[in-house]
Amino acid sequence: MNDCINCNEPNLEHWFYCKSCGERASEPKFTTNMYMIEEAAKRTDFEISTTTMDKTIERAKKERTKQGQDFWRGKLKEFKKRRGYANS
Ligand SMILES: [Zn+2]
Repeated sequence: MNDCINCNEPNLEHWFYCKSCGERASEPKFTTNMYMIEEAAKRTDFEISTTTMDKTIERAKKERTKQGQDFWRGKLKEFKKRRGYANS
């Protein structure tokens, strides 16, 4: 079954999101729980049963962005300190 479950457009290339309507094109092949097993091993700050894969992805993206910012902020601080500009 290669048709979009939302608009029934053929989805021959098996895109996760339908190229026609932009919605998820097929039923998830992996259950949320299967996905969560991996994530749950690393994280304890959310309730497995009440989150969705989409939410988790969104959250992981935000966290990653924040981590990236913190990382570069730290690097900059380090750099300034090394150059003797610690208070600038
Ligand atoms: Zn569609």
